[in-house]
Amino acid sequence: MPSPQKLKDLEVSCREHFTRIFETPPILSASAPGRVNLIGEHVDYQDGLVAPLAIDRHVVASAAPLQEKKALIWSSTSNQPPVVVDLNPNHPLKAPDAWANYIFGVIACYRAAGHDTGGLAIAIDSNLPSGAGLSSSAALESATALIVEEFSGNHLPAKERAQLCRKAEHQYAGVPCGIMDQMAVNCGLKDHALVIDCRTLEITPFTLPAELSMVVVDTKVKHSLADGEYAKRKNDCVKAAEILGTQMLRDTDIEQLKQKQNQLGNRLYRRAHHVVSEITRVKDFTAAMKSGNPKLAGSLMNASHASLRDDFEVSCPELNTLVEMAEKLEAIGSRMMGGGFGGSTINLVHSAKVNEFTDQLVKKCREEHGWTPEAFVVSAVDAATLSEFS
Ligand code: ADP
Ligand code: MG
Repeated sequence: MPSPQKLKDLEVSCREHFTRIFETPPILSASAPGRVNLIGEHVDYQDGLVAPLAIDRHVVASAAPLQEKKALIWSSTSNQPPVVVDLNPNHPLKAPDAWANYIFGVIACYRAAGHDTGGLAIAIDSNLPSGAGLSSSAALESATALIVEEFSGNHLPAKERAQLCRKAEHQYAGVPCGIMDQMAVNCGLKDHALVIDCRTLEITPFTLPAELSMVVVDTKVKHSLADGEYAKRKNDCVKAAEILGTQMLRDTDIEQLKQKQNQLGNRLYRRAHHVVSEITRVKDFTAAMKSGNPKLAGSLMNASHASLRDDFEVSCPELNTLVEMAEKLEAIGSRMMGGGFGGSTINLVHSAKVNEFTDQLVKKCREEHGWTPEAFVVSAVDAATLSEFS
């Protein structure tokens, strides 16, 4: 597997793209990492606990101010002429291209909060797969946010930036996401995973032992969170919480679920069962990691996958195949990650066996199932930041 462009190279390439497209050099760049989530899936929007970490794959944004009150938005991924958005008071509510709304949305949300940038040109480059469950959307928003903060002279604390980026994704990209992705991207810590309490936004980092490696396996099946199933699951959770007489499923437990099983009915019971049991698994997982019991932590990852597959029904055949194969290849733990219906699995593997694991998994999947996933090792890095121009 070719190794991804190093962050420094990516920053150079983004600056070069900018200079070529806008015929002037940028004055600022920002980089934002993607994230993996070890455990705690589909619980952030129910105030649950999650255990993500920022990874060594990034979205980079290079930018310069403009005289005119316009945003010119370009990305190497679409590689089309820049999208132009008028920033005058009667500007359009949305950018004309769906992807550009992740950027325009951030600019618009900062402006609504009183942080005006003036006009700007922005170019995006990335070595983070998009739509693979690695939070390219939150990385794109967060890199943009850092640029906007620098240009407007108003710097927000990381948690506030995360909340503003989430608002932009809700209002402009139309994705009703939880807060986990933006928090992981803006609060990541090198060599650490973060337990994030999605109610209080309190973060408890824990170290990742060097003898364990994290492998992302991308099905290459693309999901679209914006339409459909994600919102349906979220609504199911709201309905279940209502029946249980609580605001958030975080505040209930399995006993209470059982007592109301008939009122909930089969589907809502299973949805709530996933959320409640997953929050417990996050606590047990971090306790297991902290006490040096990766085997137990891994079994909780597999239990998380089973719950997402059977109770929450957000997996798909490709994800199930990868998890089953990972178990046979003696991964410590493996589960689907992200919204579901495609995207990637996250696998915890002994570092000594990691090359063999990735090679075998890709080879066997191709031979036995006729499709080829992409597997790569990730490590924990620091949060989104402005880049130094050297
Ligand atoms: P994920 O966040 O898991 O990668 P999402 O579906 O939430 O998946 O976000 C993917 C969307 O984000 C893409 O469809 C695109 O609109 C936008 N996006 C991500 N990275 C880029 C990029 N480098 N250039 C342009 N748009 C991007
Ligand atoms: Mg996303």
